[in-house]
Amino acid sequence: MRIKRLRLTGFKSFVDPAELHIEPGLTGVVGPNGCGKSNLLEALRWVMGETSAKSLRGAGMEDVIFAGTQARPARDFAEVSVLADGVEGDDVLEVVRRIERGAGSAYRINGRDVRAKDVALAFADAATGAHSPALVSQGRIGAIIAAKPAERRAMLEEAAGIAGLHVRRRDAEAKLRATEANLERIATLIGDQE
Ligand code: ATP
Repeated sequence: MRIKRLRLTGFKSFVDPAELHIEPGLTGVVGPNGCGKSNLLEALRWVMGETSAKSLRGAGMEDVIFAGTQARPARDFAEVSVLADGVEGDDVLEVVRRIERGAGSAYRINGRDVRAKDVALAFADAATGAHSPALVSQGRIGAIIAAKPAERRAMLEEAAGIAGLHVRRRDAEAKLRATEANLERIATLIGDQE
């Protein structure tokens, strides 16, 4: 999967609509302190389904919405869209996440309303996502060097594209447990009737 375009509106310091075209190869973001470099990377992680407000340097998820300045009023919503080549390379994937004050987040994939889980799976299958090792934020290199073996394994699995399989396995195991519980209940009911 190759990320081709990022669009932001009302996300953190990006109050006005902004569009970035990401060219093939390694992309670095440079600029003076406080110009919004980290906010850009956070926007990318957010649209890929980041659920931890803390990891986006906020207390709650609504903190990603432009909070206003002396010159401009706060916004009621933030929206980020990412355009990428699909897993096969030829199909196109457009994911949009929007958050409104008091209403939480909503996601769309190629114009269709989806759940957060569908977005996480779409990116996990493509070996990327909110926690992808391909997104190198400040302090990340040090964190990788200091990571425990289990954390390093998770990074390698993500890079190898099998993280999605773990999510599916957890889902399948939960369904299996629920089905086993139902079977036990049925067996008890049958036993009661005999
Ligand atoms: P540095 O190089 O110092 O790490 P940076 O370029 O990574 O800086 P960011 O941390 O991305 O900069 O941006 C910080 C700016 O974003 C600050 O000016 C902060 O006030 C602004 N900002 C963060 N969240 C919001 C928000 N919800 N609303 C408005 N502005 C915000």
